[in-house]
Amino acid sequence: MTGPFTLSPLPFDADALEPAISARTIGFHYHKHHQTYVDTLNRLVEGTRYADMKLEEIVRATVGNTGEKETKIFNNAGQVWNHDFYWNSLSPVPTILSGKLKQAVERDFGDAKALIKELATAGKEQFGSGWAWLVSKGGKLSVEKTPNAMTPMAKGTNCLITVDVWEHAYYLDYQNERPKYLEEVLKNLLNWNFAAENLDKEDHAVRDAAE
Ligand code: MN
Repeated sequence: MTGPFTLSPLPFDADALEPAISARTIGFHYHKHHQTYVDTLNRLVEGTRYADMKLEEIVRATVGNTGEKETKIFNNAGQVWNHDFYWNSLSPVPTILSGKLKQAVERDFGDAKALIKELATAGKEQFGSGWAWLVSKGGKLSVEKTPNAMTPMAKGTNCLITVDVWEHAYYLDYQNERPKYLEEVLKNLLNWNFAAENLDKEDHAVRDAAE
């Protein structure tokens, strides 16, 4: 079926993240799970005021709304947004932490290694399904974890990078060993360029608001 939302293109080939994430995992995760969130969202928003909103607007408009329909819309819109963000948080080629982002990481965590350790802990300690995030609040970096479809963006927090810790993200490759998946992804796949772009966007937003 069609609707206002489409599955964003995967920013790399399905086998590009091997061996850390297999093409088989991408096959299920992107083509099945992510696609299903998109299809379900399209079905849910049909004929509602949400059909004309951007994805971010839907997430912010429905967060905390306990109505049955709004909860479903929030869960699926959140998951579409989170997965778009996750694929962009990963890079098949090494990226380098540099410039303003590197300075901010060193100021707020000490060094990249300490940041990665915090992300690993957040991912490990997220009980059940969810996400680990590097976020920026007024330029100050921190690590957060969220359950299920929740995203710090829903409450207006600027997200820099995320790691999916739902079982579907790692079970085919690592079975129950979430910490191993986290170790591989955090060591080999984080896209620092994407994180730096997101930090820059916040700067521009702050400047635009001040003008
Ligand atoms: Mn997922």
